[in-house]
Amino acid sequence: MTRETEIVHAGYRQSATGAWMDGPQFSATYMTPGEPASHPLTYGRFHNPTWSAFEQALTLLEGGEAIVFSSGMAAIDALFGVTLKPGDAVVLPSDSYYTTRVVGAGWWHALGIEVRQAPTRDGAQAAALDGARLLLIETPTNPQLDICDITSLARAARAKGVLVAVDNTTATPYLQQPLALGADFVVASDTKALTGHSDIVIGHAAAADAQHAALLRTWRTQHGAIPGPMEVWLAHRSLATLPLRLERQCESALQVAELLRRDRTVVGVCYPGLGDHPGHQIAARQMRAFGSVVSFDLGSRARAEAFFRALTLVKEATSFGGVHSSAERRARWGGDAIGEGFIRFSVGCESVDDIVADVSAGLRAASAA
Ligand code: PLP
Repeated sequence: MTRETEIVHAGYRQSATGAWMDGPQFSATYMTPGEPASHPLTYGRFHNPTWSAFEQALTLLEGGEAIVFSSGMAAIDALFGVTLKPGDAVVLPSDSYYTTRVVGAGWWHALGIEVRQAPTRDGAQAAALDGARLLLIETPTNPQLDICDITSLARAARAKGVLVAVDNTTATPYLQQPLALGADFVVASDTKALTGHSDIVIGHAAAADAQHAALLRTWRTQHGAIPGPMEVWLAHRSLATLPLRLERQCESALQVAELLRRDRTVVGVCYPGLGDHPGHQIAARQMRAFGSVVSFDLGSRARAEAFFRALTLVKEATSFGGVHSSAERRARWGGDAIGEGFIRFSVGCESVDDIVADVSAGLRAASAA
């Protein structure tokens, strides 16, 4: 069976009524006379059938047991929680999603964890592995879309007894499967392309090893980093269209990247699908396609703001991976080593002609600013 077909059906089991999928199960508690252990369902923080169906789908996609969390950050925090103890060292990408570094260098460092940082590009994290407990990779990175080779970093880490986790948010398991490339863990924000409708905040972690998965599940239960049943049900419903959405978004993203590269107002374009992107060869090996996000630099804040004022279709908003095209001047948040004119653009499912027309209008306005 093709992967596309598997995803359309993943986690669906016919309900007692014959419906394709049961509705979300809203239950904080279950009727459990006598011994709790004799009942499969007891309390809403411990388990939920709506979670189980979605986790069955994610497990199939990831190739390792998946656990759904209330957000991507909750999944990342659980990863740190189950792998690190005081005195351990973790190697983070110095260009990762900003909050991952904030949480590592703030909360986890305060608990006695050594936090090392090295760039994603050229596999530079490999040089920081000696004596570490965990390597966290992010590829492509948010927002600069740098790439590293998961297989070779995982090999280097394994040789030094270091666990490897990949933040797979930008790619999703449809485009990239880190566990098959040698990682021990995957973490992801499913707020982005995996669910793709910009209507829920949710995340997941997956582990190659059953004991690691059990630890993540226990962490979620005991810390209460649980998603609501409605969010999980919406996430599962959205999953079936993941291949359709992403194929269109990736195709359009390449066209947008090529348009940007030809424009003289643009001082730099980051898209791993472009042949001259420094990570293109690696991305072509380990990804099925290059993703829905294109980042580019207009050189100044004034030009970037003129770009946004001229857009009529694409909305200025944070987050990415949704069916609606959106973009933002990333420096407005701080925390990343980028210029004031740097824009992260998330290409949606609209007709590529309409997206290109809007971007072209924005570029004309930027060049006049
Ligand atoms: N990882 C990456 C790469 C992200 O881009 C984000 C959010 O933007 C997160 C993790 C955190 O996810 P969430 O907002 O679902 O907590």
